[in-house]
Amino acid sequence: MSLSPPISKVDFIKEILAQIHWRMNKHLPAKLIYMPLPTTLYIELTNACDHRCPLCIGQVNRRAKGFMDFKNYKILVDEVKGHVKEIVFSGNGEPALHPKVYDMI
Ligand code: SF4
Repeated sequence: MSLSPPISKVDFIKEILAQIHWRMNKHLPAKLIYMPLPTTLYIELTNACDHRCPLCIGQVNRRAKGFMDFKNYKILVDEVKGHVKEIVFSGNGEPALHPKVYDMI
């Protein structure tokens, strides 16, 4: 049995976006068979936060804390340029904690 070669994070993201796009088109009625790409992109810059809001899902999420790699962020943003109209920093953490947040804005 052979294992697949490791896939880069960028290729992984492209694959996920392509699968979402394909699945959305596949299950729509024929007259809506073409779905344009999403116009809003939600990105979790980090899942770290210095608050402890009681209702926050981040309080029960056991993922290791981390920050999105700036290089991958730039590749992703360049990839969706022309399709996406807005980018929302969201997720289980406080985006303002990312050390490169001003460069990302
Ligand atoms: S991510 Fe938002 S909701 Fe969650 S603990 Fe931090 S500030 Fe509160």
